[in-house]
Amino acid sequence: MHCSFCGRSAKEVELLMPGMDGCICNDCAEQAHLLANEYLAKHTSSSTESLALDEIPKPHDIKAYLDEYVIGQDNAKRYLSVAVYNHYKRLTQTSDDIDIEKSNIIMVGPTGTGKTLIAKTIARLLKVPFTIVDATVLTEAGYVGEDIESLLTRLLQVCDYDVKQAERGIVFIDEIDKIARKGDNPSITRDVSGEGVQQGLLKLLEGSIVNVPPQGGRKHPEQKMIPVNTKNILFICGGAFEGIERKIALRLNTHMVGYGTDSKQKRIEREKLLHYVAPQDLKSFGLIPEIIGRLPILTNLEPLDRDALRRILTEPKNAIVRQYTKLLKMDGVDLEFSPETLDYIVDKAIEFKLGARGLRTIVETIMIDAMYDIPSSDTTHFVVTKEYAMQQLKKANFDILQQAIQK
Ligand code: ADP
Repeated sequence: MHCSFCGRSAKEVELLMPGMDGCICNDCAEQAHLLANEYLAKHTSSSTESLALDEIPKPHDIKAYLDEYVIGQDNAKRYLSVAVYNHYKRLTQTSDDIDIEKSNIIMVGPTGTGKTLIAKTIARLLKVPFTIVDATVLTEAGYVGEDIESLLTRLLQVCDYDVKQAERGIVFIDEIDKIARKGDNPSITRDVSGEGVQQGLLKLLEGSIVNVPPQGGRKHPEQKMIPVNTKNILFICGGAFEGIERKIALRLNTHMVGYGTDSKQKRIEREKLLHYVAPQDLKSFGLIPEIIGRLPILTNLEPLDRDALRRILTEPKNAIVRQYTKLLKMDGVDLEFSPETLDYIVDKAIEFKLGARGLRTIVETIMIDAMYDIPSSDTTHFVVTKEYAMQQLKKANFDILQQAIQK
């Protein structure tokens, strides 16, 4: 018994599968599988190829959809809507006279203001493969961490290794600021997760054929790579760029008003500065000019104020309060949060500097007992009063817990 493809005997391979007139070993079967995938990706038409221009959601439609889930951030939503629309248009173009180039995007804004949320929400609307990856796990080839090409592994996975589809996809790279160069002086120790990664990323952003490890992680010599052309892949990057306000202030030759004065004024000035973010500031922050050049659309997200936080609690389609109401509705219970309770939750989120991300934690802490008891009781109506909320947070030692986290 020999493999009809490589000729090895049953003893030399792990598994030999018999067929009508011959056998195949596990190694050859694996190779055949990859080849078949490659062939099918090349020769089967993908669904986006047949997408007609009138089927594509218009920027207004994309923005309206985003509005249902994301509070505020109009600027970023508009930029993203246009970019995604243009991305679709580029995919439908057939004549080659004018080549519509892609415009990768970079979003700058404090953490917890909705960058990932916008990306995720768009993904739900899209008919192209979409994935979110984290820049922090990447390192320069040859070092511990993941190879840069593994960014595309996830994209391949979401479309079942259909290379043609992946080549039209969108990749959201989160925490791009974490691969900034660590300081202006080239140091003796190599900056393996900073500039080196940026150089590697450049290859992806500018559009070239890269070899992607099908399982991600680190490449190894025996692994079969999947070649992917990144020319039509849209990259959206996001990062908090903490401290970039200083660079902006320096460039604008203004001092950050508010040092030493009351903190409210200081905050307002910081918020305003982010509006003026320009490519030079990203450079001062530590992104290499070539990367910045490949991310021509720069937009910023606003810090969330009290009003925005209050709206986030109740308005989005999947707002946390709505989720709890629905959960209890399934037990036949009407849940109600009094307006003072909602204000109180927002106050606590601000007090503990938890931002929008903290709203959920606070609501969960308040609701845990009710969620435990109500399904087995005969309650049909439950009102979360401010007193109840205060008592629950106190019971959970929320203050102490949060202070400990902040320290
Ligand atoms: P980041 O900007 O750090 O990527 P996220 O998008 O992950 O922040 O936001 C964290 C959570 O906070 C989201 O899951 C969402 O529930 C909430 N959130 C943040 N910003 C908004 C917003 N503008 N509108 C609605 N919810 C938001």
